[in-house]
Amino acid sequence: MQLSHRIETLTPGGADGWEVFVKSKALIAEGVAVTELTIGEHDIRTDPTILGAMDASARGGRTGYAEVPGIGVLRDKVAARITERTGVATGRDNVLITPGGQAGLFAAHCAVCDPGDAALFIDPYYVTYPGTLRAVGARPVSILTRAETGFLPSEAAILDAVTPDAKSLLINSPNNPTGAIYGRETLEEIGRACDEAGLWLISDEVYDTQVWDGTHLSPRALPGMAERTLVIGSMSKSHAMTGSRCGWIVGPDHAIARLISLATHTTYGVPGFVQEAALFALDQGSELEERIAAPFRRRRALAQRILAGQNTLRMLPPQGAMYVMLDVRATGLSGDAFADALLEAERIAVMPGESFGQAAAGHIRVAMTIEDEAFAEALERLCGFAAGLAAAKAS
Ligand code: PMP
Repeated sequence: MQLSHRIETLTPGGADGWEVFVKSKALIAEGVAVTELTIGEHDIRTDPTILGAMDASARGGRTGYAEVPGIGVLRDKVAARITERTGVATGRDNVLITPGGQAGLFAAHCAVCDPGDAALFIDPYYVTYPGTLRAVGARPVSILTRAETGFLPSEAAILDAVTPDAKSLLINSPNNPTGAIYGRETLEEIGRACDEAGLWLISDEVYDTQVWDGTHLSPRALPGMAERTLVIGSMSKSHAMTGSRCGWIVGPDHAIARLISLATHTTYGVPGFVQEAALFALDQGSELEERIAAPFRRRRALAQRILAGQNTLRMLPPQGAMYVMLDVRATGLSGDAFADALLEAERIAVMPGESFGQAAAGHIRVAMTIEDEAFAEALERLCGFAAGLAAAKAS
């Protein structure tokens, strides 16, 4: 039986960017020791105190259907957190709790794009973006940025990509994979472009607690932007709760009301015991968030030190998030070929830049998600491997 065009074309050509990750998982399953630096997941598990809260909640009876928009106390907590951090008055009616940021991205685009509409996004991008946009029936339109300008989008580049059927622009700061943080000037350019082109702005802020340089600024806080912005948040990265699937969308109350109706007809909410655990986690305040972010700050410094000592790979120092991007072009290989060869020769798995679009071609993304000493050792080996390739190319 024929499946829908929409689902069959979600990942054109069958490639979804996760090939090295899948290959490395298969090697690990065969018993091969692989240093796994592909996926964005902490090397610590969810804090035992959060699990305690989850357990108490489930045993206390929170195992039935939970309120579809999210439990009131968690919506209030997220609203208060956002008000405090951005200065934008935010209440319960501006918040929908979702099963993770990924479900939030899908729902937010459903809310603003009709089938066939153009949905703009910035390249390099988080691997799932184009497929998410296709899943809602939208036409993904990428806006290329360049390493030389810090992978920041400009007003002109956004407006160049706008067509009459364009409805939304998706941005992500702190950025996966580049580690770029969009400053006020960039966000103002984005805001002006959205205003001029009549676009919704969908702002993926799931890395907002992982900031190494500068500060995180939410575009929703810029004048006039709250009416046209949907913010995607998540407990995954900030609280090492990737498996709990708990995130949110924050936006204008009329949009959230419609999104609640969409949730009724799709996810039917998030488990109550997960939400109560998330509430407990948020109640711990920024100390817990800083403790979870600290290893990445340390490893970024380690990477800067190791990369400074070689001249084949160029590191784009991340301002935020849990990855480092390395320019591997001096080896003569593409990011794809480099990642394949590295897995083959050194049993180190990294993501090829090409998985994140055209703009990151010739780069690899290294997740800083293993313990410090092993991370430093893997980077040293990676540098040695790259130097060997560059020497072979030169000879
Ligand atoms: N956005 C970005 C940029 C991400 O890197 C991720 C996860 N890697 C997500 C959204 C989705 O996160 P989750 O669904 O776990 O909240």
